[in-house]
This record gives sequence, structure tokens and C-alpha cells, in this order.
Amino acid sequence: MKRKWFFLILIWCIALAAFGLNSLAQKTSLDTDQPADSIQAKQEESNSNSTTESDAEAENGTDAEIETEAAPEADAGDAVLEGPFAVERVVDGDTIIVDYDGNSERVRLIGIDTPESAHPDESRNTAFGEIASDFTKEALEGQSVYLEFDVEPRDQYDRLLAYVYLDGEMFNKTLLQEGMAMLSTYPPNVKYVDDFTAIQEEARNAGIGVWEGYEPPKTSGNFVASKNADKFHRTDCRYAVSIAEQNRIWFDTVDEAEAAGYQPCSTCTPNAGD
Ligand SMILES: [Zn+2]
Repeated sequence: MKRKWFFLILIWCIALAAFGLNSLAQKTSLDTDQPADSIQAKQEESNSNSTTESDAEAENGTDAEIETEAAPEADAGDAVLEGPFAVERVVDGDTIIVDYDGNSERVRLIGIDTPESAHPDESRNTAFGEIASDFTKEALEGQSVYLEFDVEPRDQYDRLLAYVYLDGEMFNKTLLQEGMAMLSTYPPNVKYVDDFTAIQEEARNAGIGVWEGYEPPKTSGNFVASKNADKFHRTDCRYAVSIAEQNRIWFDTVDEAEAAGYQPCSTCTPNAGD
């Protein structure tokens, strides 16, 4: 009986000792390995952080535009988009009807204006209005779009006023880019006016769409007039010199100036012989 107890206690002690040694060994290995592991882990962590940051910087620096256009939510940076909404019908180049949470809502694309094609007063409809309308139909009919609102979400006719996004690109901009629309700004909805102005400038200088045949204004010539007056001058006339640069209109000939509705200045007396 005593012997049996002795053995039981002995086994218990051996088990305890084994367990104690084992955990001691573990503790030792933890003491030696863990700091190294965790330093490494931290280094890896900081490496991956810095990689992410530099990737982000690279994207911002080079691919920001492509990147933002790819994702609807990110196109305009801080743009808050609603949708998607199914396009039920395209009314004309800048007006569509969407299924807005169960209601058929008329949406006017803002910041731009396409020539009329569906105006009740038919004399206001133009051939180019038809082209712009077809362009929007082609692009948006049967599609789902996202909407971004500016300061005022509705106009006096209760239409929604929105920037319309298709596949991550703002269609208002597309219309400007393709020369299908012209800049048209109604404060306070002016969030993208600088962007839109630059895009229109590009389309206009390239003579695209409504800008076909457009010639940029001359910036030099033999005679000059002011936008705000009705006389034209020789370039060395004291009145010519005082015209602000942004108001100057240039002509090569007297005929050209007179055809534009300007009369010769009586001080510098430009005449057809010049
Ligand atoms: Zn003059």
C-alpha cells in the first residue's frame, strides 16, 4: 500500500518536473526568439506600410486620372455619388429620365448645355441638337448611371440637377470633350466650373463637334478695337494702347474692321489705303 503511494507520488513529481522543464524551455525560447520575431514583424509591417504609401504617391502623381475614372465612387475625388439608377429615356442631349428609387425623375445634366433638339418651340431645335441628342441616347439609353448633386439638387421645374456618371466617367465632361455641349454655369452649382472650362477650351481649340470651323480669336493685327467701344485704331494710337488686353479685337484690314461693325477712329484715322 505504501509502495503504491510512493510510486504514484513519484510519477506525479516526474510529470510536474517534465511539465516545468518544458514550460521553462518554452519560456527561454520565447525570451530569445520573440523579440527578434517581433522586431522582424515590425520591420515587415513598416516596410509594407511604406510600400503602400509610395504606391499611393505614385498613383497620385501619375495615374490619378485613370485611377479615378475607373471607379465610379472615386471619379471626382470627394464626390458623393448616388445610385445606380436605370436610365428610362433620353429626352435630349442634356436631359434624361431615370428610375429614381421607383419614381421617374427628369434629370438635367448641369454645368453644360447642348443645342436644343426636343424643344416645344421647333424653331429653337437645331441639326446639332439632334446630333447631341443621338450621342446621349447612344451612350446612356438602357444603362445604369450614378448621380452627383451640387449645392442645389433641383431647379424651378423640379428637375434633378446632377453630374451623371457612366462607368466611372462623368458624362457631363464627356459631352464637353466631344464638343456636344457648351459650358453653361448656373450658380451656386459651380463645383466643376474650372474643370469644365479647361475641357471646353480644349475641344474648342481642336474644332470638335459644335466647335467645328471655330477659329481662335486673333491676338495681333494691323488694327485694333475694343470689345466695349465702336471705333478701331492703328496699333500706335493712344486709344489703342489703352485698351485692356482681354478686350482687344484684332483686324488685318480696314475692310475687316468695318465688316465687323467698327468705325475708323477720328484721331488716328485708319483708312482703306493703309
Ligand atoms: Zn485711334
